[in-house]
Amino acid sequence: MTLRFFSDKKRPVHMGPFPCERLARLTGMPDLSMVPPARQLSFEAEDSRSIINAMREHQAMLDAIRDGLVNRKVAEAPTDPQERARHLKAFGYFSDAAVVGICDLPRAALLEKPHVNPDVGRLAQDLRTRQTKTLAAGIDMIMADLKESMEAPPSGIEGHTHALVVLFENPRAPEADEPGTGWIADAQAHRAGLLASEAAVVLANYLRVLGHPARGHTASSADVDLHKLAVAAGLATVEDGELTHPYIGTRFGLAAVTTSFEMAPDSPLAPLDAQPKSAFGLGWKLGTASARNALNALPYAKRRFVDGAHPFETLKRVEEPTTYIDEPNVARVPKRTDMFARGQFGDMGKKMQEAAKGGHYVRKAAPSMAQRRALGAFVLLQDGTPAPEKIHLDPQEAAELVKATSYWLGADAIGISRCPDWTWYSHDARGEAIDPPHDQAINMIIDQGYETMEGSSGDDWIAVAQSMRAYLRFSLIGGVIARQIRNLGYSAKAHTVMDGEVLQPPLLLLSGLGEVSRIGEVILNPFLGPRLKSGTVTTDLPLAHDKPIDFGLQRFCESCNKCARECPSGAITAGPKLMFNGYEIWKSDSQKCATYRVTTPGGAMCGRCMKTCPWNLEGIFKEKPFQWAAMKVPQLAPALAKLDDVVENGTLNPVKKWWWDLEIDEDGGYRPTPHPVNARALQKDLDLRYEDQTLAVYPAPLAPHPYPYPFPMDREAGIAAYQAMITAEEYKALLERDER
Ligand code: SF4
Ligand code: SF4
Repeated sequence: MTLRFFSDKKRPVHMGPFPCERLARLTGMPDLSMVPPARQLSFEAEDSRSIINAMREHQAMLDAIRDGLVNRKVAEAPTDPQERARHLKAFGYFSDAAVVGICDLPRAALLEKPHVNPDVGRLAQDLRTRQTKTLAAGIDMIMADLKESMEAPPSGIEGHTHALVVLFENPRAPEADEPGTGWIADAQAHRAGLLASEAAVVLANYLRVLGHPARGHTASSADVDLHKLAVAAGLATVEDGELTHPYIGTRFGLAAVTTSFEMAPDSPLAPLDAQPKSAFGLGWKLGTASARNALNALPYAKRRFVDGAHPFETLKRVEEPTTYIDEPNVARVPKRTDMFARGQFGDMGKKMQEAAKGGHYVRKAAPSMAQRRALGAFVLLQDGTPAPEKIHLDPQEAAELVKATSYWLGADAIGISRCPDWTWYSHDARGEAIDPPHDQAINMIIDQGYETMEGSSGDDWIAVAQSMRAYLRFSLIGGVIARQIRNLGYSAKAHTVMDGEVLQPPLLLLSGLGEVSRIGEVILNPFLGPRLKSGTVTTDLPLAHDKPIDFGLQRFCESCNKCARECPSGAITAGPKLMFNGYEIWKSDSQKCATYRVTTPGGAMCGRCMKTCPWNLEGIFKEKPFQWAAMKVPQLAPALAKLDDVVENGTLNPVKKWWWDLEIDEDGGYRPTPHPVNARALQKDLDLRYEDQTLAVYPAPLAPHPYPYPFPMDREAGIAAYQAMITAEEYKALLERDER
């Protein structure tokens, strides 16, 4: 799907993936009364198996939070309308919009009465009430705390002067006879509408977090006509009575944000027959300057949805993961062992507790704070009661339906496996024992995105939003899939970053989504590298399973220690894999990593290891020989790792920086950070040696109790535990002698 010959390294993010700068524009506004009105989408389908029914709650939740409180403190952000437009558009592209446009809010686009789909509207009202109760009870601590510094917005869209419009494209329509069509037929408009709603709701919240009134408008709930806005903002023209984009055609859905935040508007597009030939010339045909081009214009044109966008079918499948797991002896640990939880409860000292309190590391930067609201809201939807009647599905058919639908919705990689008891935490976040309810796991990977990572040091002011974007996307897709399974009469729960009860790394290994990497708990995928976040849906729906994969990563990571060298906290081992809690792993010092991510003053969180890894690739054709050689000729691994340094992979590309370095102040306002921003060059001369590292680990015998109150960490004991770890071979020998 993503065939590309040319890099777009020199293209700023705000220009988007399509070469829209080549399109002719009008100097005046066309007659908007001639634009066919936007159709209100109902998320209700007659066929009980249709995914449209499973999308309804998530669409309603986005509608429920399309407006909200506004920060009393207006952010000290740039005031130049051009810079503001570039920034907001880039945020839209970061959120996966295909095209973003801005216009002055035209009177002709205002609806006399807000247009709310009755079914979705009723559900949205109910969800709004549930959300308010959750906040009032302080269950969602970040959002509840934030209420202190926020105030109610003016009613409706009063005082709004500008609109930011996002266009989300659809892949090709499902074929009548391909796997997955039973669920996704006739749902294209709903798919694009739902994804566009997520972006608009996040962008509207972002503007409110910055102190400016803003409201999202979606395919099911709007105060404005989305079609008229799309024409006014230069996203589409009317061709044969239908809204059309010159490169995308009619295959898209829309959402918008109206606001009082002044931004430079775009000009409307000229009609298709007035577009210059050059707009469709060699540049478009070959993609010389933009990621999207004629060769990859139609997503999934030559692939079945069930197979995914990457050639997963070419990977070598094996019976067991490439790293040893002593399944009978894996120690189940409480959820409370999570380092962020330990930080919040004070296990790692006062400084860490202060920095972690109420998720400060998320609210520290405005983009992540904006994403956080939807992420918190989706928690209410990730579990529920199954429909009373079970619809029978053969395990192979069920697996194909789940995969095709998840890929169609936008997941980047999917693997299905058993979900053995040892992959579940022993106790949940409240300290209650978990009796594993499901034995099937649908595991998904969401790409954190190459482009923004290229402009980032990995540990600067966008790092946390990169993680949150991927977490949010899984919450949406995983939540819809879980709901779909429940609609068919089976139990299912989406395990998200906000509320999950399974350990994902072993499930990713079992389901063939990657191999253990030197980074430690990060499972590396051959096509996405380590640049990913994962999520799991567990269920009792019987499913056909995938097998683990072997793409030579163990040999590669043995010959490379770039992530360890570049890690700013020194958390990644430069030494061998060792046994930890029954897993063979390059065990990192999670305490050092979490402390750095939460307390670094020069940014918000960190993913520098992912950014600098040689497997973090742009996805262009010239990288294919590297991927092929790395997977097929393990002897070349040392040379390839060195070559990666020579070609300076992992350096900062300032062209791709679009975010503002704003930090939250004590009064809740966002201002330019007073701290030097993390902006790192590669440390090619650093000779990191294992014998110079002092690392600590906290295996099951050192795990905290499961309850939500302090359990101080004993770092000396952790260091001793690291030194006591043994290799898998030594471990197996002990097992054979029955001495473990
Ligand atoms: Fe950053 Fe942690 Fe990765 Fe080190 S291990 S680079 S601190 S995320
Ligand atoms: Fe493995 Fe090198 Fe990537 Fe680290 S940087 S995960 S050692 S390939």
